[in-house]
Amino acid sequence: MSYGITPIVIVGGGTAGWMAAAALARVLGKRATVRLVESEDIGTVGVGEATVPHIKAFNNLLGINEADFVMRTQGTFKLGIQFNDWTRPGDSYIHGFGTMGHDLGLTPFHQFWIKGRLAGLAADLHDYSVNTVAATRGKFLPAPTDVPASNPLGGMAYAYHFDASLYARYLREFSEARGVQRTEGKVRNVELHPESGHVAAIVMDDGERIEGTLFIDCSGFRGLLIEGALQSGYEDWSQWLPCDRALAVPCAKVAEPTPYTRSTARPAGWQWRIPLQHRTGNGYVYCSRYISDDEAAATLLANLDGPALGDPRPLRFVTGMRKKAWNKNVVALGLASGFMEPLESTSIHMIQAGISKLLQLFPADGVMDPLLIDRYNAQTRFESERIRDFLVLHYHATERADSPFWDYCRTMAIPASLQENIDLFRQSGRFFRNGDEMFGVVSWVQVMIGQGILPAGYDPLADQLPDEELPKFLASIRDVVSRNVDLLPTHQQFIDRECRAP
Ligand code: FAD
Repeated sequence: MSYGITPIVIVGGGTAGWMAAAALARVLGKRATVRLVESEDIGTVGVGEATVPHIKAFNNLLGINEADFVMRTQGTFKLGIQFNDWTRPGDSYIHGFGTMGHDLGLTPFHQFWIKGRLAGLAADLHDYSVNTVAATRGKFLPAPTDVPASNPLGGMAYAYHFDASLYARYLREFSEARGVQRTEGKVRNVELHPESGHVAAIVMDDGERIEGTLFIDCSGFRGLLIEGALQSGYEDWSQWLPCDRALAVPCAKVAEPTPYTRSTARPAGWQWRIPLQHRTGNGYVYCSRYISDDEAAATLLANLDGPALGDPRPLRFVTGMRKKAWNKNVVALGLASGFMEPLESTSIHMIQAGISKLLQLFPADGVMDPLLIDRYNAQTRFESERIRDFLVLHYHATERADSPFWDYCRTMAIPASLQENIDLFRQSGRFFRNGDEMFGVVSWVQVMIGQGILPAGYDPLADQLPDEELPKFLASIRDVVSRNVDLLPTHQQFIDRECRAP
C-alpha cells in the first residue's frame, strides 16, 4: 500500500527532526517520501544529552547496533539520576531505573521495606536496587538475558548519555541512507490553504516552494508552523515549574564517567552533570525571578568537575505544552510541542512517544480525520501532565527553606492529581500507576522517599509475610544485590571493552 501523504515534510533537523525522519524512513520505507528542511545558520538547541531506558525501544525499531551507536555518539551508560541537596543540603538519593527488591504476589517490594523501616529493620531503600547500588559503585553491564528471574541483575535497566550533535548526525546518516531528502536553507514563509487553513507549502529563502500533505514541525522553541502559522496556543505551567532559563557549558573530563546523571539543587534551580566519553556536559536550570544571569553563570562555573570548554550558552524557555500538538495537517514534535525541564530527561522520550503515536494514528489516506487528531492530542496531554506532576514532586517535596526560590517551591499550590498521590503515599505507601504513564511505581516510590515523604503506615497485604521472616527477606535481597554488583565490570571497563570511541 502506498501512503496518500506524499511528501511528508519535516521542518527542523535537531534531535526531533532527525528522530522523526529516521523512524518514518524505517517504518514507512518506500511507501512515503520524506523531506527534511534545516538551517545550519539557525542551528539546533545543542543540548539534550541524557535519556531514559525507553530509548532502547526506539533504537531497536531502527535496528541500530548498540556498540556502534554508543561509540559514534561518544556515549556512556546511565543507570539512573543522582539527586543531591534536593530534600535538604547534604542529602542525596538516586532514582534508579529498573526494578527494586522482589515483589511478592500483588504486593510491591517497597511495602515490605516500609514495614521493615517502621520496625527499624530496613537499610536504605537504595540498597535493594541493583541499579542504584551499581550506580554508586561505578559498575555497569547490560542485564544478561540468561539470568533466572530471581536474580536481581535481570531487573537492571539502563539508558544512555550522548553528544546531541553526534546523535543528530548519526540519525541523519541513517535517514539519508534510507531515502530521506535533506534541504539546507531557511524557511521564509508558510503558505496556508485559503479554505481549510491547512499548511499548503513552505517557502524557502531562495524562493523554492515545498508542498506537502503532512508537515512535522520540529523547528524548536519557535514552533514555526504549529504556532507561527497555525497559532495553536500554549498552556503555561510555570506556576508549578518556575525555572525559565538555563546556561549550558561542557567541561573537560577529569575522571571516569559515572553511570548516572547528576542533578544538584542550587539556590535558584538545579545543575546537571552528564558524563560523556570525551567531555562532561553541565548546565544550570534556574528561575530568573530569583537570580541574575551573571550570578547563575558564576555558580555554574564554580561548580564544574574540570576546566570549562567555552563560555556558558544561554537558553530561555517557558514550561508548558502546546494546546494542540497536532493541529490541522501539522504535528509538532520536540521543543515545538512544549517543554519541560530536563530534570528526569523526559524530552527526548516525548519525541519518541510522539513519533510512536503518529505512526499508530497515521493518516494513511491523507485525510486529517478529527478522530485521529483528537486521540493524539488527548494522549499527549495525558503523558505530559503525568510527567509534569512527577517533576513538580521533586520541587515541592523539599525541606529547603534557605532561599526565596525554595520557599516558593515548598509552599506553592500543586496540581490536585499530584496532591492525591502524595496524600495516599504518605498514609500507606500506596501508589498506582495511571494508565500507561511514563514513570512506574518504582520511580515514583524512589522519588517520594528520596524527597522525604515517608509513609506513616503500610499496605496490610505486606503482612502476608510472617513478621519473623521479614528481617531475613530484606537481608537476603540486600546481600544478593550487593554480591551480584560486585561481579560487574566498572563502567569504564565495559566501555573500553565494548564501545570505546576512537
Ligand atoms: P532544535 O534542536 O532547536 O532544532 C530545531 C531545528 O529547526 C534546527 O535544525 C533549526 O535549524 C531548524 N529551524 C528552525 N527554524 C528554521 C527555519 N526558519 N528554517 C529552517 N530550519 C529552521 N532532553 C532530554 O531528553 N534530555 C536532556 O538531558 C535534555 N536537556 C536539556 C537541557 C536544556 C537546557 C534544554 C533547553 C533542553 C533539554 N532537553 C533535554 C530537550 C532537548 O534538547 C530537545 O527535546 C531536543 O534537543 C529536541 O530539540 P528540537 O529538535 O525540537 O529543536
